[in-house]
Amino acid sequence: MSEFTKTLCPYCGVGCGLEVSPPAQQNKATNRDSQGNPIWRVRGDKAHPSSQGMVCVKGATIAESLDKNRLHYPMVRDSLDQEFRRVSWDEAFNLITQRIQTVRFTQGPEALCMYGSGQFQTEDYYIAQKLMKGCLSTNNFDANSRLCMSSAVSGYIQSFGSDGPPCCYEDLELTDCAFLIGTNTAECHPIVFNRLEKYHKKNRKVKMIVVDPRRTPTAEAADLHLAIRPGTDIDLLNGIAHLLMRWNYVDTMFMDDCTSNFPAYAEVICHYPPEIVAHRCGISIEDLETAARYWGESQRVLSLWSMGVNQSSEGTAKVRTIINLHLMTGQIGKPGAGPFSLTGQPNAMGGREAGGLAHLLPGYRVVKNPQHRAEVEEFWGLKPGQISPNPGLTAWDMITGLENDAVGLLWIAATNPAVSMPDLERTKKALLRSPFTIYQDAYYPTETSAYAHVLLPAAQWGEKTGVMTNSERVVTLCSAFRQPPREAKADWEIFAEVGRRLGFEKEFAFANSAEVYAEFVKLTKTRPCEMTGISHAQLQLEGPIQWPHPEESRGSRGAGEAGGETSGKRLYTDLRFHTSDGRARFGAYYSKGLAEPPDPDYPFVLTNGRLYGHWHTQTRTGRIEKICKMHPQPFIEIHPRDAAKLGIVDNQSVEVRSRRGKAKFPAKVTKAIAPGTVFVPMHWGSLWADNAEANALTHPESCPDSLQPELKACAVQLIPISVE
Ligand code: SF4
Repeated sequence: MSEFTKTLCPYCGVGCGLEVSPPAQQNKATNRDSQGNPIWRVRGDKAHPSSQGMVCVKGATIAESLDKNRLHYPMVRDSLDQEFRRVSWDEAFNLITQRIQTVRFTQGPEALCMYGSGQFQTEDYYIAQKLMKGCLSTNNFDANSRLCMSSAVSGYIQSFGSDGPPCCYEDLELTDCAFLIGTNTAECHPIVFNRLEKYHKKNRKVKMIVVDPRRTPTAEAADLHLAIRPGTDIDLLNGIAHLLMRWNYVDTMFMDDCTSNFPAYAEVICHYPPEIVAHRCGISIEDLETAARYWGESQRVLSLWSMGVNQSSEGTAKVRTIINLHLMTGQIGKPGAGPFSLTGQPNAMGGREAGGLAHLLPGYRVVKNPQHRAEVEEFWGLKPGQISPNPGLTAWDMITGLENDAVGLLWIAATNPAVSMPDLERTKKALLRSPFTIYQDAYYPTETSAYAHVLLPAAQWGEKTGVMTNSERVVTLCSAFRQPPREAKADWEIFAEVGRRLGFEKEFAFANSAEVYAEFVKLTKTRPCEMTGISHAQLQLEGPIQWPHPEESRGSRGAGEAGGETSGKRLYTDLRFHTSDGRARFGAYYSKGLAEPPDPDYPFVLTNGRLYGHWHTQTRTGRIEKICKMHPQPFIEIHPRDAAKLGIVDNQSVEVRSRRGKAKFPAKVTKAIAPGTVFVPMHWGSLWADNAEANALTHPESCPDSLQPELKACAVQLIPISVE
């Protein structure tokens, strides 16, 4: 038997396969972390179809975080000014169930909230849904994926009638033109970028266009970098569409047969001639025309995007406007072509499948649809009407709910909102008001643990067996290779035990996570994300499997294998969509721009993002020496022209103020950022640096469709701190 256990990297949505072997096999002198704990060895899994053995620094060093600062026991306190005291699981469960019952029967189920995470395995998500949406009759379950990719979900649903990224990673190596917008793929999704870059270098005819206000490592590799002003994405996309129309690069047969609503869109794009668009975007007409020509002349165009598009008050409109370009040129449903959102979290896709947002139900169903609710109620054996018809509170709604005393109990799991939410001062004040907060996590302390009344120790990566789905719909079994430390438990086990103690014994009578998954996949039958042919046993035996994968495909690695090159691996190869008329629907949007544009008082646009080595709020990567050495401190990128105007020099401390708060960063004067825009990394919370929180500055204005906040841009002023 192999000494290696197969699993998946628990950081980003690329979903790289890993193999892990025990530390006992290693040289003891060189394989211990700074606290003396033996480190498990990690290597890329060459057999994993998505990553083919590749792994970035985060995946390679993940095991170093396993034993540091773990939360080992349930702890409670009566108020936030008290110390925590250790309790047994039995006491913790009793306290939680009593509190749930009190809130449920005094304030009603709508006062119960759970805020989960794309770090969950699908089984964790599924059990949390069943508890909250099914048994407790509240849809107040949302996840940090709301801050990450909910605009992609609503864009797909509105354009195609269903969620689901239509492409696969193989398309990176089959395209003629890769159009990357709002994604620093080289740093944030490194293995996807490796595959694209290798192919691009080998095939010089293949074009790579990158749209980003920063000259990122991704933009450095492009044939054409469009450094547009923040908030002008829709101008640019409509401007490209205008030129595609003018130069007759449109696929009229595809549009006639497979789409609807084109006249409304055509009416919009006629208002985006190149002179106006280039001026608004701050780029040259020549570059705009080059982008349209690259797109129009290519047989296969692949668009990639992530947070730069999704985290916007126009997020859904941006996603749909990207999709529009594919619809007008027939660039979908074939190898090397299509709109392809890259998910941030490792299992945000699994969350979408299992109903892990406040407006969703398992199997790509939506709360608002009465038939969908009835199907899930029947499957779960509930009374008709037991699932609330109202979409629940989203991530930011829970913060405003705390402000309004509408939340009686908040259960936060595997996420760190005291760093990742917008407008942090307001967020923290709201968290202080919470009458009862349960915080369930693998690590202690985190910035959020300071706001908890109950701490529950969670098992993490490598300590529980479950399933994750990556951005290309590949489902991987993440097998446990060690026991959870001390009293930590898998998230799904904690939710299920609370469910049983609330009287739902039958609903949560699962012996293991394989049984949970088996129940979940039944709910995907005949749904767009069908995976009734997938089970833990099959994943163990055959390795990762791509959905859709109905029962009749059992035995193949994905429907693509059975259906040939142009089916299964990709969605919509038959050019029929999930809308009522089977046609993909154009979205017609005029650009609205930023929710908070710069003005004389706050003259700069602040944007933010990830760095290559760090992950989100550093809960793991802040405990890994190699990564901390790589990125020792936060910084603010300022263009030399702006720096000269303000008298700022490299490394000088700069106070950044927005209407909501302030932070302080050492300056990095660089032409990588456009004049008028500044950039800060989003990884530093109060545990890791003083006053360097990007979200102290951001605002919660959200996309009206996806309810995803515009974390990517706000107006700020810069105040150089004089050097003595
Ligand atoms: Fe992990 Fe993402 Fe790096 Fe792959 S690319 S090793 S999934 S962090």
